Amino acid sequence: MTTDTATAEAGRDFIRDIVQADLSSHKHSRIVTRFPPEPNGYLHIGHAKSIALNFGIAQEFGGQCNLRFDDTNPTKEEQEYIDSIQADVHWLGYDWGNNLFFASDYFERLYDWAEGLIKAGYAYVDDQSQEEIRTSRGTLTEPGKNSPFRDRPVEENLDLFRRMKAGEFPNGARVLRAKIDMASGNINLRDPVLYRILHAHHPRTGDTWSIYPSYDYAHGQSDAIEGITHSICTLEFEDHRPLYEWLLDKLPVPSKPHQYEMARLNLTYTLLSKRVLTQLVRDGHVSGWDDPRMPTIAGLKRRGVPPAAVREFIRRIGVAKANSVVDVGMLEFCIREELNRTALRRMAVLRPLKVVIENYPEGQVEELEAINHPDNPEAGTRKIAFGRELYIEQDDFMENPPKKFFRLSPGNEVRLRYAYFVKCTSVVKNDAGEIVELRCTYDPATKGGNAPDGRKVKATMHWLSAAQSKPAEIRIYNQLFANPSPDAGNFAGDLNPQSLEVLTDARVEPAIAESNSPDAMQFERQGYFVRDPDSTPDKLVFNRTIGLRDTFAKEVGGKG
Ligand code: ATP
Ligand code: MG
Repeated sequence: MTTDTATAEAGRDFIRDIVQADLSSHKHSRIVTRFPPEPNGYLHIGHAKSIALNFGIAQEFGGQCNLRFDDTNPTKEEQEYIDSIQADVHWLGYDWGNNLFFASDYFERLYDWAEGLIKAGYAYVDDQSQEEIRTSRGTLTEPGKNSPFRDRPVEENLDLFRRMKAGEFPNGARVLRAKIDMASGNINLRDPVLYRILHAHHPRTGDTWSIYPSYDYAHGQSDAIEGITHSICTLEFEDHRPLYEWLLDKLPVPSKPHQYEMARLNLTYTLLSKRVLTQLVRDGHVSGWDDPRMPTIAGLKRRGVPPAAVREFIRRIGVAKANSVVDVGMLEFCIREELNRTALRRMAVLRPLKVVIENYPEGQVEELEAINHPDNPEAGTRKIAFGRELYIEQDDFMENPPKKFFRLSPGNEVRLRYAYFVKCTSVVKNDAGEIVELRCTYDPATKGGNAPDGRKVKATMHWLSAAQSKPAEIRIYNQLFANPSPDAGNFAGDLNPQSLEVLTDARVEPAIAESNSPDAMQFERQGYFVRDPDSTPDKLVFNRTIGLRDTFAKEVGGKG
């Protein structure tokens, strides 16, 4: 085992410190972690924290991280989720190698161990209803009440449990409970349910089982079977740890993993509960799990967020022992930072306004050179076509500008990026009085964007040739929720009615239209955009990944 990288990473967070200490003291010679999703939904950015931590630790310390599906509730789980979870972990840049497991792989062994618990007097079959079990469990201040079935003889328990397995009883008729302590200060130890009857088809085990293990029973034992050394979960499982340990102690497990809890990721303007995300999809508030407004990995991907930005975000937020809420601006910062470094620069006009250059010869087309990345000469240059008819952004022109407006207005001169200085001479309006076209002149001496006489302009604007640019639809996404802390119980009222704006008349340069890259590009002065999977050669569609500036609230104010 080499610990060179490990030493470099130690001190980053308390979990890595524990891992390092366990290696140094030879408590463990090799680290094994796991990421244990339940396949009942798509992964979200909160899961990315757990993925980056578990896989990251395995990488840094030369260990192993298993991908284990916690597939113990067949009524909520689907193959689609199993597939998407694997794709999303890979997209984030992590790999489990051959270590793909399912809790259902262990059903047989878990069952045998449950019989063992019964035989040892540590578990019993309870005939009470779910409701009775709940009400007799007590509260934080009052002890629970023993079940009238708690002292069933071992033989009777065994017989009933076997008949539960054989499918003799309907759903909910009985459960298997651990026999621990109904007066325990920890409610999780008040005879927790280990097995419930569920006549349901399982994606992997089919109709073999009529009983399914509870999370608490399956999870720790799966960890033990896989030789997990550090079982990392979120804080709400802290109170489950005594049960985790009780079960490991009572069962003939091949190893004794240790559970560690960390804070879950919460983000402003975002809900990260699978229940809410499922409902957003089912109720049609979004177009699907991969809607670019969703905080899912699939949504981030479709929005054009690079996986490196997600990893950097997770690295920056760290791993703490106390819950907190991270500003979504931090995620946006990481996205912008990564894209600013990597994204190719292009020109697109989102809301076109036609410009006719009156002194430019009709039918003439000129190729001008544009750079692909300002800080990376290796990204090279491309040609863009200039002609008599152009498009500029509607909001780059004002007929009656206020004092500080330096972009195009009647009589004012500006630079068209990579091209020429132009001056607006007149405005063409339709019957409704709306501006439909600008008439301009250009100065042929300013080719490339500089005047030989040294005169200056105060604005440089992007533009496209009317004839050479291509039409496109552009989808502008804003926060899905308008409330910085949306109410998970009643989230519909907190939805942002302006979370999606579709621009159907946009124009893009040919280098955008022809690109097959899955990566986001910078549309100069507008932000970062990526081709949407809905895009076809006949109908180009792009998603805005993110604007150039901080937070959507400020973006509404527009460009300066
Ligand atoms: P639910 O939303 O129903 O509570 P879950 O998000 O816990 O479900 P799992 O599939 O059980 O879904 O999660 C897999 C792993 O991801 C678990 O180890 C869990 O602790 C971790 N995880 C889930 N949400 C977050 C989060 N917001 N931050 C960090 N880790 C998370
Ligand atoms: Mg969970």
